[in-house]
Amino acid sequence: VEKNPAEPEFHQAVKEVLESLRVVVEEREEEFRREGLLERLVEPERQFKFRVPWVDDKGNVQVNTGYRVQFNSAIGPYKGGLRLHPSVNLGIIKFLGFEQIFKNSLTGLPIGGGKGGSDFDPKGKSDREVMAFCQSFMTELCKYIGADTDVPAGDIGTGAREIGYMFGQYKRIRGVYEGVLTGKGLSYGGSLARKEATGYGLLYLTEEMLKLNGQEMAGKTVSISGSGNVAIYAAEKATQMGAKVVTVSDSTGWVYDAEGIDVEALKEIKEVKRARLTEYQNYRPNAEYHPGKGVWSVKVDIALPCATQNELDLEDAKQLVANGCLAVAEGANMPTTLEATEYLQANQVLFAPGKAANAGGVATSALEMSQNSERLSWTFEEVDSKLKKIMVDICHNMADAAKRYGAEGNYVVGANIAGFEKVTDAMLAQGIC
Ligand code: NDP
Repeated sequence: VEKNPAEPEFHQAVKEVLESLRVVVEEREEEFRREGLLERLVEPERQFKFRVPWVDDKGNVQVNTGYRVQFNSAIGPYKGGLRLHPSVNLGIIKFLGFEQIFKNSLTGLPIGGGKGGSDFDPKGKSDREVMAFCQSFMTELCKYIGADTDVPAGDIGTGAREIGYMFGQYKRIRGVYEGVLTGKGLSYGGSLARKEATGYGLLYLTEEMLKLNGQEMAGKTVSISGSGNVAIYAAEKATQMGAKVVTVSDSTGWVYDAEGIDVEALKEIKEVKRARLTEYQNYRPNAEYHPGKGVWSVKVDIALPCATQNELDLEDAKQLVANGCLAVAEGANMPTTLEATEYLQANQVLFAPGKAANAGGVATSALEMSQNSERLSWTFEEVDSKLKKIMVDICHNMADAAKRYGAEGNYVVGANIAGFEKVTDAMLAQGIC
């Protein structure tokens, strides 16, 4: 905390991981101490912070701050998304990059951990303004990334449009056509099923976790927060599995639809019109719109937080437990506070942490990298079946690791241990670096 002040989200992520690794660390304490392993693990290999000047539609210069944190490359090139949101600062990017190390390790694919972004807000900007920002951002970022060194992807605020503008600028400056970004459009190297991957993957893992505990998705009622990329495709897959999704939200309010969220209407509002959720009632007059927070007050079997960090706190957890909630699986990164997680687990709610539950996005990004290297495109079914297998494997790996260390059913501990073991083995094998 003294070394990195004003980075509360980063401290929170490190605390959560290290506390759950206590059993492993105690077993190999002497070796880890001698090797400075934990000290190396929490210090990014490299971090960049840069100026991003761009010209708005009125002809005025705007200045944002850009970040890229290259956290750990022990098992592969840095991989992790770019977040564009006014709340972005170094501490948030570091927390996301740190989580990414273990998440990427859990996928079983050869990708290291990194994250980046900017405090730029794409909301309310014209396409030209978004392009001006993306080009300026990439003009600096392109010095530090590459298909074999660091391959960024989307995150909050960075969708196909932003990735397209950034890819164009990278190609223009560096003069190479390579898979330097994932989440690309299908006409220029993107992968089928990447858009769906995080939401679908979340449901594949949730279904498997339920199975391990003698339950199934079909017939369950589900609340989802957020209405972006992850939330939309989580709602789609949950509905396909026979569950009923009754809520979605954004930063201004939330929708309750007792008949089940109309996913096609949601896609049109968010993906085509880029509009707000207040529009939902135009499609479904019987649905309710509530301003402010409240998604977690609804009685459901399964809760899937898919918006942002720390959006499900202790009070929300208490409400979910009082309503008989069976499982919580994190579509977003660190959406549940530490106290809320502990409360849910203490009350026998199955809890799948984000680094396992939302790993489908980065896993499919790694599949996009493979396709780019091969200069081939796989079918939707091929990518989707690989994704499903990866998520089922992650679920078993986290369950098995928890069991091995005497914490059966504690998937937070299991996911952290399973991710940590591979990274530390690789770090130790590569010497002090
Ligand atoms: P999007 O930008 O597509 O959507 C984000 C959603 O969350 C929007 O509905 C947004 O509402 C809401 N939201 C964002 N910030 C806040 C806030 N401070 N308070 C309340 N609501 C908020 O992002 P994604 O769906 O891609 O990402 C969602 C989460 O999933 C993030 O935590 C991200 O890191 C994580 N994730 C994403 C992956 C991916 O492949 N996309 C992969 C793995 C994790 P509004 O429109 O009002 O801002």
